[in-house]
Amino acid sequence: MPLIREHVRLHGFPQADRARHQLLEPSAEQEGTVLLRREESDVAHDCATCQASLLEGCRLDRLPGLVFRCSACGGYSIP
Ligand SMILES: [Zn+2]
Repeated sequence: MPLIREHVRLHGFPQADRARHQLLEPSAEQEGTVLLRREESDVAHDCATCQASLLEGCRLDRLPGLVFRCSACGGYSIP
């Protein structure tokens, strides 16, 4: 588990579709709201709408072009 020292809110993205955007969506086995957990930083990235944590320990520059979907509120976020 990464040690989180800072929370950064992502930016809202009103509409996303699979044909045009590369979506990172919650999996069926996922517990909680975190879509991706890495050991690259001490930052959690939070949903633009409800501020649930979607990424933990990730660096956004290593996740280019992704749209993140929140399992708590269904909203989409981008860096
Ligand atoms: Zn949310």
